[in-house]
Amino acid sequence: MVVQYKCNNCGSDMNFNPKSGQLLCESCGLSEDISSKELSDSNDKNIKYEPDKEDNQDTESFEQDFYDSHNGDIESEHNHFDGNDGLQYECNNCGAKLITDSNTTATTCSFCDAAMVLGDRLSGVLSPSLVIPFKISKADAQQAFKKWCRNGRLTPSDFMTANRIANITGLYVPYWLFDLNAKGEVQATCTKVRTYTQGDYIVTETSYYNVYRKVDLDYLKLPCDASQKMDDKIMDKLEPFHYSDLKSFNMPYLAGYISEKYDFTDSDLLPRAKKRAVNYVDNFVRSTITGYSSVKFNHKDININQRSTYYTLLPVWVVYYNHANKDYIFSMNGQTGKVVGKPPFSKGKIAAWFSGIFGLSFVIMRLLALIIQGGL
Ligand SMILES: [Zn+2]
Ligand SMILES: [Zn+2]
Repeated sequence: MVVQYKCNNCGSDMNFNPKSGQLLCESCGLSEDISSKELSDSNDKNIKYEPDKEDNQDTESFEQDFYDSHNGDIESEHNHFDGNDGLQYECNNCGAKLITDSNTTATTCSFCDAAMVLGDRLSGVLSPSLVIPFKISKADAQQAFKKWCRNGRLTPSDFMTANRIANITGLYVPYWLFDLNAKGEVQATCTKVRTYTQGDYIVTETSYYNVYRKVDLDYLKLPCDASQKMDDKIMDKLEPFHYSDLKSFNMPYLAGYISEKYDFTDSDLLPRAKKRAVNYVDNFVRSTITGYSSVKFNHKDININQRSTYYTLLPVWVVYYNHANKDYIFSMNGQTGKVVGKPPFSKGKIAAWFSGIFGLSFVIMRLLALIIQGGL
């Protein structure tokens, strides 16, 4: 099932526009509200998201009542998608037959460039709950990429070809957002050391303290990228995403972009989410123990439990490029504009850079030599 959005005015294909947050017809300029398009019937989870309530991923809450109505464990109901089904899709616009990667959920027609949203791969158990729509436009992302190239001083000169910049891809990356709760106790022995002089002696006085902390922390919407293709480290560096822009998922947000379904289920990623939460808990506990000369933990008993998960699409601009047989990736948070990437280093430019430096120091040494000899 291919979903395409036609302009009511001129019949052209419409794309999601990051500036207005609406569907835009680039032929006649007509804008259409996303909400006026029928909400995807595939969104069977009925999650109504209130963006104002929960804003930050690292929110710590001590309100015991917060989860009172919750009965504890949550079973994940997501199943693996059978990648052999429906690899071929037909463009409603030009009739071209498109073979897609089994993970693709939205793409553009390679013949007429019309946006194609693959509805059957976004329904049932594969329906995302939430999405942060693109806020940075393609033109802005291209501009940022150019600037980033210019800032990388050792970038090969052939690197900034127009073709590469044009190949910047707007990708909705599949994520799981975890709501986790950490409950437990920590016990530590801490010391305070005081030194003073008494007559002929220097006295060092060490006082010992038993420190006890009971923690009950909620970590809301901790993100883990669920795509095998995306490098976890790069994805983590693209954070934070601001959750004030989270919307209930609706297919028109994907029009004109590439979107992928998850490779890893939330249960696959739970250990990774827990590991991140453990670091947050440790940092939090440490931040509450202050004013001591030393802290030694004797006992730590913290249980982390999953409260809920949300299958969520987050926006990323990506350029893949190959230079001197090495693959590089430039990526940019499609909401905040934060850039992650490493410019390729060119041997030629490095040599020129070094000879520049050595050339300069040679001149300085010559000058020094002349001054010492009284030649100047
Ligand atoms: Zn139009
Ligand atoms: Zn087409």
